[in-house]
Amino acid sequence: MRDLKRNEFWKVPRTHPLYGKKTYIPRMAEGSAQAVAAVLRSLGIDAQVVPPSNAYTMGLAGKYSSGDECYPLKVTLGDFLHLLEQPGLDPKKTAFFMPTGQGPCRFGQYGPFLKSVLARLGYRETALFQPSCENGYSNFGEGSNLFTRGVWRAIVSGDALLKLLLKSRPYEIEAGAADLVHEECVEELCRVLEVGYSSSESQMIALEGCLLRARSRFRKLAVQSDPGRPLIGVVGEIFCRLNEFSNRDLVRRVENAGAEVWMNDLTEWIWYTNVDQFRALRLQGRQFSLESFEAHIRNYIQHKDEQALLAIFREDFRGYEEPRHVQEVLDYAEPYLPSFGANGEMVLNVGKAVYFAHKGLDGVIDISPFTCMNGIVSEAIYPRVSRDHAGIPIRNFYFDGTQSDLDRDIGIFIELAKSYQCRKPWPRVAPVIAEPTA
Ligand code: SF4
Repeated sequence: MRDLKRNEFWKVPRTHPLYGKKTYIPRMAEGSAQAVAAVLRSLGIDAQVVPPSNAYTMGLAGKYSSGDECYPLKVTLGDFLHLLEQPGLDPKKTAFFMPTGQGPCRFGQYGPFLKSVLARLGYRETALFQPSCENGYSNFGEGSNLFTRGVWRAIVSGDALLKLLLKSRPYEIEAGAADLVHEECVEELCRVLEVGYSSSESQMIALEGCLLRARSRFRKLAVQSDPGRPLIGVVGEIFCRLNEFSNRDLVRRVENAGAEVWMNDLTEWIWYTNVDQFRALRLQGRQFSLESFEAHIRNYIQHKDEQALLAIFREDFRGYEEPRHVQEVLDYAEPYLPSFGANGEMVLNVGKAVYFAHKGLDGVIDISPFTCMNGIVSEAIYPRVSRDHAGIPIRNFYFDGTQSDLDRDIGIFIELAKSYQCRKPWPRVAPVIAEPTA
């Protein structure tokens, strides 16, 4: 915001905790994670996304955890420890990016746990950088405005590219073509985000151009329409639902079983944390404080940026419209989990499941780590949500790195979705099948 205008090519100063450190970002969502790393590079931080997880990284994590930790923490721990094993990596010049928050669950324990493992293994000087959801992830230090706004734009763009991919891939004529287009779009997005701009307006112009080109690449993709294919909404724990390794590529498996997926956006969580920050400030009697004023400005600017970026896709996302405000999701959740009494992703998941039913979707999948508090509470409520919404199938899929016959379970779920599709009371708005553009 103000920083962007004033600092043509602002870079983090020597006093910043990430100065001179190679910074690694967890691979949370393909596209968004890479875009966030690009934003950090634009601020002079040598940032990149951790390499993909595998059996070896999970084995490493298993050595230094008890088994009671949340699965996303275990996956991340394995990725970080694997990096620290790499020859040539200097632990003193390394930082790991790990957002935090007090939350209602174990999320707030990730940081202390990671720090204790790193200390135990002698990596006391390896930094853990933890922007917090309690203040909209704005505690970046000097340059917070540049960081928060850049990351927001990166995530909105990453979500949009993922949406384009998911609404195209099940219909592609040439296998792998949609993934290739998505990769190209993410690469271009990163190139656009990793440079410094003279103003937020010039960054926005560059981003709009990039997203317009992405839209046109996806419109050129050869697809075969299949209006009967069930559309499944996916909610759940944010890391597990967006990290393909953690959920054993569930989205692709659902597609292979004959359905299409509407993935809950990453931005929804950030909108929710904004609402929660206002609620906390009200409860503390600080609704007229400087912090509240800054949060309102940030909220306003985020709305403005999101609207500008998503306006490009108005036609492409017809039938896939997200709620106008996260409050709509909280209102849908209220009869089951009032947001003033319950906190965290469980509220969003239940509210979004209801939203999906009203949008005419054919089923809802909740992806959660095994023993996830949010997943367990949501699972207890879904039968009532389903009963109240004409029996829409809703199913939890839990993940902890062990094997089960996932394809069989998905196949059964898609059959239920197909049978609900014939009797659902809420029609779906037909998406636009874009004519290929030159
Ligand atoms: S949401 Fe679930 S998996 Fe994530 S930290 Fe909380 S309890 Fe753990």
